[in-house]
Amino acid sequence: MKITEHIKKANEKTLFSFEIIPPKKGKSIEDLYANIDPLMEFKPPFIDVTTSREEYVYVEKDGLLDRKVTRMRPGTVGICAAIKHKYDVDTVPHVLCGGFTKEETEYLLVDCHYLGIDNVMALRGDAMSHQKYFEASQGGHQYAKELVEQIQNLNRGKYLHDVIESDNCANFCIGVAGYPEKHLEAPSLQTDLKRLKEKVDAGADYVVTQMFFDNKKYFEFVDAAKSMGINIPIIPGIKPIAVKKHLQLLPQVFRIDIPENLIKEVDSCKSNKEVRQVGIEFAIQQSKELLAAGVPVLHYYSMGKSNNIQAIAKELF
Ligand code: FAD
Repeated sequence: MKITEHIKKANEKTLFSFEIIPPKKGKSIEDLYANIDPLMEFKPPFIDVTTSREEYVYVEKDGLLDRKVTRMRPGTVGICAAIKHKYDVDTVPHVLCGGFTKEETEYLLVDCHYLGIDNVMALRGDAMSHQKYFEASQGGHQYAKELVEQIQNLNRGKYLHDVIESDNCANFCIGVAGYPEKHLEAPSLQTDLKRLKEKVDAGADYVVTQMFFDNKKYFEFVDAAKSMGINIPIIPGIKPIAVKKHLQLLPQVFRIDIPENLIKEVDSCKSNKEVRQVGIEFAIQQSKELLAAGVPVLHYYSMGKSNNIQAIAKELF
C-alpha cells in the first residue's frame, strides 16, 4: 500500500515509522531482525531501508595499491523483500542517483514492482569519500528530480529503451528528501525549497525531512513549503542523540544545529549510557510537540540498535 494511502487511512492520527540501515556484508540478517522485532509492537505501516553507494578499497598487489570498487552492504531491494515477507509490512527502498546508471535503476525498480514494493524514496546520494562534490555516474542522474521523472515514466509504462506493451504498469508512490535547515550545498533555504518544488512537480508524493532538533525549524519549513504550493505530506525525521560524538558528527555531516539546552545536557553526561537516556528524553519531548501539531507520521532514524526508539515509541504510541 502507498504511504499516502496509509496517511489517508489513519484519518489524521499520527503514524509511527522508522528507517534502518542494512547490516554490513558478513553480518547476518538476524542482526537486523533483532533491531526490528522490538519496534513491531508499535505497528509501523512502513519501514525505510537505506542504500549505501559504492566505495573504493585499496588492495595490495605486487607491492602496489590497486583500487577496487566495492559495496559494503547488501542490496536494499533484497532486504526490503525479506522484511516485507517476514513482518507483512510495507518497506521503502531508498533509490540513489549516485553509483547507478539509469539502466541499473530501471532493473532495480522492475524488481521492486515484481516484489510488490509500492513505495520508493528517490534520492541523489552524496559525493564519494574522495570527491569534494557529487558527480553523477556515467549514464546516471545528476539530481533526485531526474530520478523522480524516471520513476514516473515507469509508472506510465515508459521504459528507457524498449517499447513494451505494458498491461501491468508500476504505480510507485515516491518520497523525496526535504531539509528544514537547507541542504548543505544549497545557496539558500529559499533556493533549496524551489528545488524541492521541482521534485514535487516532477511527481513526488511525499517528503521526509532531514533530522532536526528544533521543531520551530520544521514548522517554518512546512509553512514556507505550503506557501510555495507544496501540498503533499511532509514527514518529520527524528534522530535521538545516542553518543557524545554526535554533538560534532551530526552538525558536520548534516549541517544541522543542535539546541544549547541539549548540548549542555549531553556535555554533562559521564557515559554514553547517560547520553542515550538524554537523547531518548529529548526525542520524547520533541515528538510530543510534533504529535500535538498533528504531523502525519513520526519517522525515526534508528542507525543500529533500536532500544532507544523503542523507549520513545512506548511513551507515544
Ligand atoms: P537533490 O534533491 O538532487 O538536491 C541536491 C542538491 O542539489 C541540493 O542542494 C539542491 O538544492 C540542489 N539542486 C537540486 N536540483 C538542482 C538543479 N537543477 N540545479 C542546481 N542545484 C540543484 N543518502 C544515501 O546515500 N542513502 C540513503 O539511503 C539516504 N537516505 C536519506 C533519507 C532522507 C530522509 C534524507 C533527508 C536524506 C537521505 N540521504 C541518503 C542523503 C541524501 O542522499 C543527501 O542529502 C544528498 O546530498 C542529497 O540528496 P537529495 O535527494 O536531497 O538531492
